Amino acid sequence: MTLCKQDHRYDERFESLPHDQGGPGRHRCAGCAYELGYEAGKRGDTRFRLNLDALPDSQAGSVRHRDPEAAYALGYRLGAMAAGNPG
Ligand SMILES: [Zn+2]
Repeated sequence: MTLCKQDHRYDERFESLPHDQGGPGRHRCAGCAYELGYEAGKRGDTRFRLNLDALPDSQAGSVRHRDPEAAYALGYRLGAMAAGNPG
């Protein structure tokens, strides 16, 4: 098991994300999902699919028990905006 140790665990942006109450992403790091989404959004890569099994676990901070799918979607939107890609 990989445990996320990155600072994004404490990013306040993730505190507005919905909680994942028991889905497969429950213990996965939403911060890592966010960053994958951000990169995909910047590339305009609509075919990229989040692989929950590939994400490290997170046991602390503001990303704990946040929905990684929602984090990914948020990252994708902001990445696309940063790169000037609509939608
Ligand atoms: Zn992480």
